[in-house]
Amino acid sequence: MSQSNHEQPPILDVRGMTKHFPVGVLFNKRQVHAVEDASFTVQCGQVVALVGESGSGKTTTIRMIARLIPVTQGEIFFEGANILKTEPRWASMDYRSKVQLIFQDPFASLNSVHTIEHHLARPLIIHKKASGRQEIHERVCDLLETVELKPAAEIANRYPHQLSGGQRQRVAIARALAVDPQLILADEPISMLDVSIRMGVLNLIDKLKEERGISYVYITHDLASARYIGDKIMVMYAGHMVEGGDGEALMKEAAHPYTQLLLSAVPNPHAGLRTDNGIGARGEVPSLINPPPGCPFSARCLKVMKPCRQVMPGQTVVQAGHWVRCHLFGPGGNS
Ligand code: SF4
Repeated sequence: MSQSNHEQPPILDVRGMTKHFPVGVLFNKRQVHAVEDASFTVQCGQVVALVGESGSGKTTTIRMIARLIPVTQGEIFFEGANILKTEPRWASMDYRSKVQLIFQDPFASLNSVHTIEHHLARPLIIHKKASGRQEIHERVCDLLETVELKPAAEIANRYPHQLSGGQRQRVAIARALAVDPQLILADEPISMLDVSIRMGVLNLIDKLKEERGISYVYITHDLASARYIGDKIMVMYAGHMVEGGDGEALMKEAAHPYTQLLLSAVPNPHAGLRTDNGIGARGEVPSLINPPPGCPFSARCLKVMKPCRQVMPGQTVVQAGHWVRCHLFGPGGNS
């Protein structure tokens, strides 16, 4: 996967983004610490993969960027402007056309009573990208051909249930493309597809990045697809970003014990079905309501030390463009 131009200012710059969900009532009010102090940038034409297990805060992160839920704390800069200050939350058609979402379940994201043409025509009409029946139909067919669904005119007349899972996800991508987005937030777009068609959707995402310069935040629990598509990878655990950097460098020199654990779970065809390389882990994921002090991975980490349970590690640069939050690195670390 090619690298983007890092000389340009980032299209998306997330700084210290935090999300706490209130739970409980009266004297039992508490907060779920879903995302804590998340910071990262996305360059034009770059795919940033957010990787982590369920409950790590990936989806909450992109929902805040999409402005589907409010941010508890932090800033989001898009094309240099702080969107939380300069735009009303629900009313920005401009932001909504520039930043699009693709959901995990392509069937649930399409309305079964409407044709594919209806799904693709709606954003064109709402965002005034086309007018008149003929022009709208031609744009719909163009979009279907862009996502390699042919014959386009025939596909346009079908209903979602008449398409395969992979075709439905391509329609969802076409719908996102209808408004000429600059950034696509893709929420596990291949996790509900058959393994045999996942690669086709990933290659389509990459092709659109190359041809149209579209940037992506691609979230997944699957390190293998993050490695394939991600120019940059950010690893999340229990709401915290624990490691990040250039995709290839991070995969070769994974520093955080949690990233190493994820890597050890990626099937290796040369090692048969046995994937455990001795890194292992124990214990439970920490409570997000009463998060323990210190490193969120301390209850499971085999390399845990005394400070790990007391102080949250700061960010340490491992090599150019690659950082980690772990007490094994930085002052007093032994790596
Ligand atoms: Fe393990 Fe400590 Fe590093 Fe956390 S800070 S990952 S507990 S070594």
